[in-house]
Amino acid sequence: MAGNKTRTGQCVSCGECCRVLRITAILDNALRQHGNIEELKKYYSYRGIRVAGADKKTNRLFLETNVTCDKLTPENKCSAHGDHEKMPLICQKYPWFKDNIATCGYRFE
Ligand code: SF4
Ligand code: SF4
Repeated sequence: MAGNKTRTGQCVSCGECCRVLRITAILDNALRQHGNIEELKKYYSYRGIRVAGADKKTNRLFLETNVTCDKLTPENKCSAHGDHEKMPLICQKYPWFKDNIATCGYRFE
């Protein structure tokens, strides 16, 4: 994740950010539980959870899984929160860093 860059562009309603759930875990706790990163990846992969990255410096482990938000309509609109201000905060802020979603209409320069 890279921050501190100027965001340009706009949401083009590709819906991809509403189809993946991301969770940040504590890296050393997870490694203690699983023994090492390969064991951890194997165990999570059986449940469709991917390791998107790990940051030893900040002790964070980035996990992703494909879980589509049940508020996403077939037209890639947010059914529960048509009003942007009423969306969950994290949805309002997204993306605040350069992400790996190729179809996203936002860019960071
Ligand atoms: S609440 Fe709306 S904007 Fe947020 S993930 Fe769900 S569909 Fe997307
Ligand atoms: S990934 Fe980007 S363009 Fe696609 S719905 Fe999310 S914010 Fe909008």
